[in-house]
Amino acid sequence: MSRLNNANRIVIKIGSSLLVNEDGTINHAFLTGLSDDVAMLTADGKQVVLVSSGSIALGRHQLGFKTGKLRLEESQASAATGQIKLAHAYQDALAKHGLTIAQILLTLDDTEERRRYLNARSTLSTLLAQGVVPIVNENDTVATSEIRYGDNDRLSARVAGMVEADCLIILSDIDGLYADDPRDNPGADHIGEVTEITDKIAAMAGGVGSSYGTGGMRTKIDAAKLATAMGAAVAITSGKVIRPVNALRDGARATWFTASQSPQAARKQWILGTLKANGIVTIDDGAAAALLKGRSLLSAGVNAIEGNFAKGDSVDIINNGTVIARGLIGYDVEDARAIMGLQSEQIADILGYKGRHALIHRDDLVMTDQAQQNERMD
Ligand code: GLU
Repeated sequence: MSRLNNANRIVIKIGSSLLVNEDGTINHAFLTGLSDDVAMLTADGKQVVLVSSGSIALGRHQLGFKTGKLRLEESQASAATGQIKLAHAYQDALAKHGLTIAQILLTLDDTEERRRYLNARSTLSTLLAQGVVPIVNENDTVATSEIRYGDNDRLSARVAGMVEADCLIILSDIDGLYADDPRDNPGADHIGEVTEITDKIAAMAGGVGSSYGTGGMRTKIDAAKLATAMGAAVAITSGKVIRPVNALRDGARATWFTASQSPQAARKQWILGTLKANGIVTIDDGAAAALLKGRSLLSAGVNAIEGNFAKGDSVDIINNGTVIARGLIGYDVEDARAIMGLQSEQIADILGYKGRHALIHRDDLVMTDQAQQNERMD
């Protein structure tokens, strides 16, 4: 309960079966309740991202693909039509609370490939800073099977990591994880809290084919694994009640998965640990001092650039022969070289486009231990 109250940035995942009725119309009772929930959260100063399915379920009825499994191109065509309805429904419902929405359609590459990841991330951060509620879905019209998230559970976990959410709420047609399939065994124990997703927990979700719930409990557990590693606490709870988030806040039954670390620590670890540096940026003492104060790296403080990197790649930052930080660079190597030593205001004239203000944004920078030790010695 307090986990929701303490959260600042919350991603809510909504499955098609909650939002779309069997006959392909919008479930307005659900949507109205959810909008009240979103308004409640934003009134509390929280930022909210919705990851919503429903485009295919809405579109297929409109296109006359009434029953049975759709062919890929039929589901893509359905999504193309349905996504417009989906976005309008959210727009109308949230406008009643004075909230503006934005539509973000992602493909797998947008979260797995770093250049696109940085772009998607900064768009989302800018929207959130403006008080907008982004509505995210997979870009189903272009995503084919090999390059898909496939289910919005996984997408919602990726989005939670990307925006450094501290909470991901997966609204389901079941109120969490049970030790056994509750359809076969009505006495199955409900699991209220999971601190570590062990093989035993994963086994409770059943196999891919034997899963219960819309996207399947299996994909929800996989999503919880991803999101908790990225620093978000995850709740799987029932969306079949009016105002499900309010109910969760009041202690409704759910399975809560504990985050393994803070989103900021997870991101730092990701930048420092899992990525190999593709280049070296040597900076002057003034820039080094600014970095230690938690500021961004501006082009003006750069003396030399080595290596071969693309925008979004990781680079080591060197001052006086010591690696003091690592970061994800906002420019390709040629452009970074062209603007090195220059003031940020000059960038547009030199490159012919208005790029990012900083060479490396402070959110994309991690100081190494060495730099912190040097500072303590000063
Ligand atoms: N992106 C699909 C849609 O909006 C659904 C994916 C899912 O249900 O997980 O219809």
